[in-house]
Amino acid sequence: MKQIDVAIIGGGASGLTAAIAAARRGAKTVIIEHMDRVGKKLLTTGNGKCNYTNEAQGIPYYRGENPAFVMSVFRQFGFSDTVAFFREMGIEPKVKNGYYYPASGQASSVLDVLRMEAAFWDVEIWTSCELKDLQRQDGCFVLSTSRKVIEAKSVLFATGLLAAPKTGSDGSALPYIEKLGHRIIDIVPALVQLQGKQSFFKTLAGIRAEILIKIYIEGVEAGRESGELQFTDFGISGIPVFQLSRFATRALGQKKEVWAVLDFLPQLHAKEAQRLLERRFYEYAHGKRAGEAMIGLFHKKLSEVLLKEAGIDLQLPAECVSARQLRRLSEQIKRFRVDIIGSKGFSQAQACAGGIDTGEIEGESMMSKLVPGVFFAGEVVDIDGTCGGYNLQWAWSSGQVAGSHAAAYAME
Ligand SMILES: Cc1cc2nc3c(=O)[nH]c(=O)nc-3n(C[C@H](O)[C@H](O)[C@H](O)COP(=O)(O)OP(=O)(O)OC[C@H]3O[C@@H](n4cnc5c(N)ncnc54)[C@H](O)[C@@H]3O)c2cc1C
Repeated sequence: MKQIDVAIIGGGASGLTAAIAAARRGAKTVIIEHMDRVGKKLLTTGNGKCNYTNEAQGIPYYRGENPAFVMSVFRQFGFSDTVAFFREMGIEPKVKNGYYYPASGQASSVLDVLRMEAAFWDVEIWTSCELKDLQRQDGCFVLSTSRKVIEAKSVLFATGLLAAPKTGSDGSALPYIEKLGHRIIDIVPALVQLQGKQSFFKTLAGIRAEILIKIYIEGVEAGRESGELQFTDFGISGIPVFQLSRFATRALGQKKEVWAVLDFLPQLHAKEAQRLLERRFYEYAHGKRAGEAMIGLFHKKLSEVLLKEAGIDLQLPAECVSARQLRRLSEQIKRFRVDIIGSKGFSQAQACAGGIDTGEIEGESMMSKLVPGVFFAGEVVDIDGTCGGYNLQWAWSSGQVAGSHAAAYAME
């Protein structure tokens, strides 16, 4: 039986970082990866450019049952440690509005340097290797894999959850984690497009608009975001939708009613929006029809849908639109309702919400409170970041902390 110090299951962002951290501390480290290569998801990040961190950091950028859990990890390895870690390995940052990308513009550079650093420190990487069994034996762990049986002093799960399962994170390690006694908080897609119920999406598909979006769950506001929304034939997409999606998917999983309210003129108060419409329809309509009076304010197709939803005939002379109809139009513009009935699911999600209950993990070391010698890193833990480099920041930081403590535990 092969004897090692640290066995890391999963060779994604957090697993590779954990392996480097463990090996740098002198631990004999093996990564068990069931895909044919490590870091497949990393290659797809940031549209192939990898937004690997963000200079704005803090608890509000992270979610989960206890988002403050991230702080004990970030205190040990935070944003500036991450930038230095990558710089030392060769990644010069390119910074756009505080968002960090490799100067090469290639996510593959990030993976390359991680792989090279792991190789330098003699991390063994076993790809296309399945975990078949995990047993505790005399203070050690015996891992039966499709390649070899190994005895490890500590085991580190860095297996992700269910987002983009084609890249390897398929939930296959979760039964082992549950068998160790850990509670897995319901896993739902996060950072994902939302599916709308109404029929107008076919008309609006492709249109982008600067909006304020609020998500309501059973009538109570769960969050709001501003930015560019994209309509698709399926529903709504874009960064502000992604940021709120985890609240919607969680609530839908609990069979709750979810809707979004879009404000197409967020810079104007309701009264100002009403006044703007009055000017366009009554003061300088100059013989235009209702549809024409909206030209230049919104995309033409969006105007048509707004007028239709307000019950206004596009062909009606603008001056003939009643004050009541104009109020309804203003209401549609400021409070456009989209009933949310689903999402694009795990296959299209960039992250998952849910995972291992942080109440069962020591924040200082990322070690299990239930089974000493078991460690966790990355998305498998009930922490999800917002868009902007926060999920990778969590993967690097938790990987670093878990890897170094797993090594220290193994070599005690
Ligand atoms: C399209 C896309 C774009 C993204 N862009 C960004 C971005 O720009 N910035 C950002 O911060 N975040 C981004 N993310 C999110 C980010 O990539 C993830 O949060 C992060 O990679 C999670 O790292 P991880 O190590 O926890 O898990 P993963 O990267 O999912 O790695 C888990 C690894 O474990 C392996 N594994 C799973 N189960 C087993 C098993 N039973 N046995 C052996 N191996 C196993 C998997 O094959 C995989 O290699 C993006 C995600 C996607 C899908």
